[in-house]
Amino acid sequence: MRIAVVGTGYVGLVSGTCFAEFGIDVCCVDKDADKIKYIKNGGIPIYEPGLDDLVAKQIKAGRLSFTTDLSEAMQGAIAVFIAVGTPPRPEDGHADMTYVQEAAREIAKNMNDYTVIVTKSTVPVGTARTVRKIIAEELESLGKPDIEFDVCSNPEFLREGAAINDFLRPDRVIVGVESERAAAVMRDLYRPLYINETPMLVTSPETSELIKYAANAFLATKITFINEIANLCEQTGANVQQVAKGIGLDGRIGSKFLHAGPGYGGSCFPKDTLALTQIGNTHGAPQHLVETVVKVNAQRQRDMAQRVIDACGGDVKGKRIGVLGLSFKPETDDMREAPSLQIIPILQENGAKIAAYDPVAMDEAKKHLDNVEWCKDSYAVAKDADALVIITEWNEFRALATARLAETMKTKTLIDLRNIYNPDIMRERGFHYISVGRQTINPDTETGLKKAS
Ligand code: NAD
Repeated sequence: MRIAVVGTGYVGLVSGTCFAEFGIDVCCVDKDADKIKYIKNGGIPIYEPGLDDLVAKQIKAGRLSFTTDLSEAMQGAIAVFIAVGTPPRPEDGHADMTYVQEAAREIAKNMNDYTVIVTKSTVPVGTARTVRKIIAEELESLGKPDIEFDVCSNPEFLREGAAINDFLRPDRVIVGVESERAAAVMRDLYRPLYINETPMLVTSPETSELIKYAANAFLATKITFINEIANLCEQTGANVQQVAKGIGLDGRIGSKFLHAGPGYGGSCFPKDTLALTQIGNTHGAPQHLVETVVKVNAQRQRDMAQRVIDACGGDVKGKRIGVLGLSFKPETDDMREAPSLQIIPILQENGAKIAAYDPVAMDEAKKHLDNVEWCKDSYAVAKDADALVIITEWNEFRALATARLAETMKTKTLIDLRNIYNPDIMRERGFHYISVGRQTINPDTETGLKKAS
């Protein structure tokens, strides 16, 4: 079997490579000629653990190729996956469908035989219908109205940083189709998962499209919920990590996405929550809960900047603030909607001088942030710092030599927005240590219990 993947970004490149790993011949297309040239020369345009080896392996096996030419990619392809971006429209937050629609038109031009057009991009409810209409009109105008095709919604749930494992071992595969013929093609493509008993839920395209938004909005809500509980913990002396554990052990709730922090970011949650609120309004079913989540999360990031200012005695003017971690989460160089992009500018507006380090995202970060001293490691960031802020919980920040930090810092203030250190230990080491949801009334021990004297 052969497929084409249109859009060779995070999702297209990972999906295409993993389909090749399933034994399918895959040709990935991108209109960005530089990106395709870079990949053909052995480069990987994104940071994703394990992807370079898998891409090299599949190219060598002859199952994976890259091109800018869609007609070449679609030769003999039974399915064409659309994996282009659907960013929020700046004016209203609606998903911008320009790239998907453009891709649909180009696909129609190159169709010669029955093809399943699959939207892998995250798209609003009704997109499959729109794509079907675009393709039918295009085929009609090209004088080839008899070519049969189906449109399928197959949302992607991979997480950056764990994308390969997520694709090869997903919790489920969602397939939104209107014909058994298209469902059969999708089952064939996902056969290695299907025979492994990965649940494959076959639904209507509308249901499939909504599942993706509902899943992301639910996860974003969980994060926002625990962040607000963290605020309450700080006011009452409770410990948010223990609250999260206590509720997460309830099988109905689950322990994941209950880590309090600086608010969600990334290329999916912010845009998908916003898009869902717009979809709700368009269809006369406002999503009040998700609207609140969007507002609370935006405020959360501003509050975290204020937390840093407060930790510095209410004034950061002229102070050197060291930032550890810039990407929206560890194991990715993706800076889209990263909390650091909200927090750092607020600190700068208040007169702070920023020194920063991230293990892989600094090149990306430089495109978004100005007037930052880019450092080679955590210790260079700490040098002469009035405060250090951990924004992203990269593993290498979990075991910093705190004595070495303390020696070089001007003031031993550490604001840990990811709760990766133990408050007791940090206080014992002489740090003015501030974290999230653990500002206990009784700070003698992390349990909140008095130590036996
Ligand atoms: P991306 O910006 O990394 O990649 C999109 C690629 O599509 C770019 O390389 C662009 O040049 C290319 N492109 C655009 N129009 C094209 C066209 N007409 N022909 C060929 N190439 C074209 O985006 P991404 O992060 O991979 O996201 C893609 C979609 O998948 C989005 O809808 C996103 O919401 C969804 N998604 C993303 C993730 C994630 O973690 N990044 C996870 C699940 C779903």
